[in-house]
Amino acid sequence: MSLNHVRPWRNIYRRKSRQIMVGNVPVGGDAPIAVQTMTNTLTTDVAGTIAQVQAAAEAGADIVRISVPDEASSKALKEIVRESPVPIVADIHFHYRRGIEAAEAGAACLRINPGNIGDEKRVKEVIKAAQDHNCSIRIGVNAGSLEKHLLEKYGEPCPEAMVESGLEHIRILQDNDFHEFKISVKASDVFLSAAAYQGIAEATDAPIHLGITEAGGLVSGTIKSAIGLGNLLWMGIGDTIRVSLSADPVEEVKVGFEILKSLGLRHRGVNIISCPSCARQGFDVIKTVEALEQRLEHIKTPMSLSIIGCVVNGPGEALMTDVGFTGGGAGSGMVYLAGKASHKMSNDQMIDHIVEEVEKKAAELDAVAEAAE
Ligand code: SF4
Repeated sequence: MSLNHVRPWRNIYRRKSRQIMVGNVPVGGDAPIAVQTMTNTLTTDVAGTIAQVQAAAEAGADIVRISVPDEASSKALKEIVRESPVPIVADIHFHYRRGIEAAEAGAACLRINPGNIGDEKRVKEVIKAAQDHNCSIRIGVNAGSLEKHLLEKYGEPCPEAMVESGLEHIRILQDNDFHEFKISVKASDVFLSAAAYQGIAEATDAPIHLGITEAGGLVSGTIKSAIGLGNLLWMGIGDTIRVSLSADPVEEVKVGFEILKSLGLRHRGVNIISCPSCARQGFDVIKTVEALEQRLEHIKTPMSLSIIGCVVNGPGEALMTDVGFTGGGAGSGMVYLAGKASHKMSNDQMIDHIVEEVEKKAAELDAVAEAAE
C-alpha cells in the first residue's frame, strides 16, 4: 500500500496476510481489498441469478457468493459459473455433498465450516474436491451459530469463542494440508464483530473476509457496516469485504466501494463531493447531485467532481477535484477544470455539460493510464 509521506495522518498500515486466489481474484497480501456481495434469487432460477451476478459485477463486485442449499442448486450453479464474469463462492451449510458438487460445478471458493460437515471422512472428501478443482475455502464463523461446546465453555457468543471456533476450523484444514483459505468471524453486533476480528487477525495470517452480518436495511445497515468495517479497515484489518443489507446486492456493492473509497483503499468511478445546500445555493444542489449520480454511473475511471451550491466553499473544494461546478447566482455558475476556474455555464444546461466534461476527463485519464502500462 502506498504511504503518504506528506500527509502521514492519512496512512493505513495494512495487516500482513498471505495471499490466496479466489478464481482469478487475489485475496490478501498486497492485493486490492476485494468487494463481494451475495445473490438473493433462487439459485435454481438460473437466468435471474445470472442477471443479478452480472448487475453486481457491473457495479464493481469482484466476487459473488451464491447459496447452494440442494442438489438442484448445485446443477444450476454449473450454468451460472459458466456465464459469470466474476468468480463465484458457493455458500454451503452442513451438507458435505453440496460442497463436493459445488467444487465440481466450478465454484472458485466454498464457504463452508469444516467442523460442521460431519466425520473426518466427509471433511477429507470435501477438501479433496476443493483441491482437485482449484477451489479455495472461506471459513465463516458466525456468532449466531457457534458450536455447542464453545457456547457451554464461554456461556455466550463472545470474541474469544469466535476466535476459538475459527482456529478449530483452521486446524482441520491445515491438518489436511489445505492452506488456500480465508476466514470471517461475523456478528450482527458491531462491538462483538470488531473484537472478534481483531482477535483472529492476531491469531492467523490467513486473509480475512470482513462483514457485519444481518446489518439491517439500506440506511441502518450501511451505517452499521461503515462503523464496523470502517474501523477494522482503518486498523489495517480486512482483505475482502461484504456489506450485508436487506437490499439489492447492487446496493451492497455500492456501499462496500464507498467505505473503501472513504478510506482511500480503493478508487472507482466518480467521487462526488457536494454540499448539503442551504438558502445560499445558486442552483438545486440535491436534485443535481441525484441526477449526476445516475448519469455518471457508467464511469469506472477514478476521478473527483465537486458540486457546490455557492462560493462559500465552491472554489476551495474545486481546487482539489478534477471537475467542479460552483453556483454563482443569476442562473449560472462557474465550471472548474483541474482546480482552476474555466468557464461559466447556465444552470439549466449544466447537468449535460458536467456529464460531458466528466466523460472527457475520464477518457483523458484512461489514455494516461494506458500509456503508463
Ligand atoms: S456551499 Fe454554499 S450553498 Fe452549499 S451549504 Fe455551504 S453555504 Fe450553503
